[in-house]
Order: sequence, then structure tokens, then C-alpha cells
Amino acid sequence: MRVLGIETSCDETGVALYDSERGLLADALYSQIEMHIEHGGVVPELASRDHVRRLIPLIEQIFHDAGIERGDVDGIAYTAGPGLVGALMVGASTAHGLARAWQVPVLGVHHMEGHLLAPMLEEAHPDFPFIALLVSGGHTQLVEVRALGDYHLLGESLDDAAGEAFDKAARMLSLPYPGGPQIARLAERGNPQRFRFPRPMTDRPGLDFSFSGLKTHTLTAVRKLEAAGELDEQARADIARAFEEAVADTLVIKCRRALDQTGLKRLVVAGGVSANRRLRERLDAMVAKREARAFYPRGRFCTDNGAMIAYVGAQRLAAGERDDTSLRATPRWPLAELVVPQ
Ligand code: ATP
Ligand code: MG
Ligand code: FE
Repeated sequence: MRVLGIETSCDETGVALYDSERGLLADALYSQIEMHIEHGGVVPELASRDHVRRLIPLIEQIFHDAGIERGDVDGIAYTAGPGLVGALMVGASTAHGLARAWQVPVLGVHHMEGHLLAPMLEEAHPDFPFIALLVSGGHTQLVEVRALGDYHLLGESLDDAAGEAFDKAARMLSLPYPGGPQIARLAERGNPQRFRFPRPMTDRPGLDFSFSGLKTHTLTAVRKLEAAGELDEQARADIARAFEEAVADTLVIKCRRALDQTGLKRLVVAGGVSANRRLRERLDAMVAKREARAFYPRGRFCTDNGAMIAYVGAQRLAAGERDDTSLRATPRWPLAELVVPQ
């Protein structure tokens, strides 16, 4: 089954063609980051308008790249949520319009199921069941995945998501949005011994997270150095390093707990923060000690992309799932509400 996937939930226009037999045929992405940078974050109205501009040319491009006749697909999948409602509407209406024109089925899929299954696009992908750590701009969740659509939430952030914490800490250090890669770069030059930031909620049992205290801790450290006139380049790098170490450590401790608690030996890590190199090093070391294994998406499929949506669409459309005539845009949509396709 060959599926066109469309992702427009936030500030990335992503499209891809996925074939169940041949794998990924083509994909393309337009990131709006440059446009949002001057506002310090994503402006929803600007995001929707830009998806309108970019989406059709990107779709034309991937049919051309794949050498496929335009419209020669067996179905279309689009992100139906969660995300910004106006941005979601662009993908949803385009998908439904094309599906009507090409007379193929169309299905709205869950953005986080896309992130969760993005490692399935890799040669080395996990079998079910596995533990998934979803760490993105809007989510930090530990999920027990028994099969496609069988998701049991083990724990999640009670406040900020890990990616959001990276973005906020970056802003405190006057780094541009999105902050994750910026903090990671600055942290390279940081001295890990100078500051030790807290590992929130690791001293008690459970698999929930909280990153707002760490955010406050970072702000206090920045202000203190600033007041003392000591916030130089090295101090900023040391703070970035302490912050990154604290987030990575916290995530590793909770993943270890989830593996031990369930007895599972496979860990999937996905979403934008899974691109973080230090986090991957720590996780790889932790799973190696447990004779377990960690799986990640390739770098560009950690953040938002069309390939993960095409992949989920191919699985669910093949099982007969499809939208009726009405398109769907669901800003809030818990992952655990998903079901196994019949
Ligand atoms: P969601 O998927 O929850 O709706 P989103 O789509 O905005 O949110 P993603 O696109 O998956 O999230 O990821 C973006 C986030 O990942 C940003 O918060 C960004 O700072 C973070 N991020 C990206 N690269 C890195 C990195 N190398 N280290 C840490 N964080 C990173
Ligand atoms: Mg994004
Ligand atoms: Fe995302």
C-alpha cells in the first residue's frame, strides 16, 4: 500500500510517500523556524498561513522525487491532532480535497503515534512490545507499547515538557528558539563539575516527570551570576551543561525504572529531544547494562516530519480505517484513547 502523509500540526510542513513493500519513497520538509524566531516562539496564525503556502508545492515535489504519477497512491494520511487547530485544518482540508479528487481513502492520524512509531522507518527497528519515551516540545511521556494502537501510559510530565524546558532555559540564556539544539551546542564547552542542578522527582517512586522546578533553578542560577557580573560565555556554557545533564539524567532514571518495572528489554525514544546526543549516550549505557536495547529515529525524523504520518497511515489504512466525509482537527487528543486497528 502506497500512502501520502501530511504533517502540519505546528511549525513544520512535512510530507512523505511511504510504500508498505518498498519503504520510504520520498519525503520533504519545510521548517518555519526562521519566521517564528523573531517572535521567540510559534505564532499560530502565521503558522497556518505558511502551511497554506508550502503544502501543495511540497507534495508536488515528492511525487516528482519518487518518480510517481501525481495521485498514484492508495490512500492519504494527515495529522488530525494534537496540535494547533488552524495549522491542523490546513493539512486536514488539503488531505480531504486530494482524496476526493483522486478517489482514495483518507485518514486523520495521531501526531504522537507518529513520533512513537518513527523508529519503525529504520532498518534496525524494534518488535513489539516495548517501552517508549516520548520527549518533544509538547509531551514527556513513558508509554508501554504492546502493539500498534495498544498504548498504556506509565507516566508523564505534570507540568512542562522536556523540550519546552529546553526552549525556556535557552531563552534565559538569550539563545534563539528552538532551544534544544542551541543548549546542546553551548553545553559542549561547559564544565559539568561547576553546577549541579536537581533531578526532579527521581527520589520517590513513580514514572511521572516535572520540569518546572528545574526551570526555576536555572533562572535563579542565571540571575545570581548576572547580579554578580559573572555571566560570561563560560558561565553560560556551564549552566547549559548542568541543565542538559540534569534533564538527561532524569529521563534515564525514569526509563530504567520503566524497563525494570515491566521487565521489557526494548526502549524506543522519539520526539525532538531524542535528537539530543548526550541523552542518547546515557540511555545507550543504561540499556547495555540491562542487556536491553534502545531504538531511535534518524536525526531528521526525531522532530516533526511527514514520514512518520505516512507510516502510521499505511498501517491503519491497510486495516480498513478511514475518515468519513468530515475532516478532523483535534487540538487535544490523549494517546491512550487510540485503539488497535481491527
Ligand atoms: P509535540 O510533538 O509534543 O506536539 P513538537 O512537535 O513541537 O511538540 P518536536 O518537533 O517533536 O515537538 O520537537 C521539538 C522540540 O525538540 C523542541 O522543544 C526542541 O527544543 C527540542 N529539541 C530538538 N533538538 C534537540 C536536541 N538536540 N536536544 C534537546 N532538545 C531538542
Ligand atoms: Mg516543531
Ligand atoms: Fe511533534
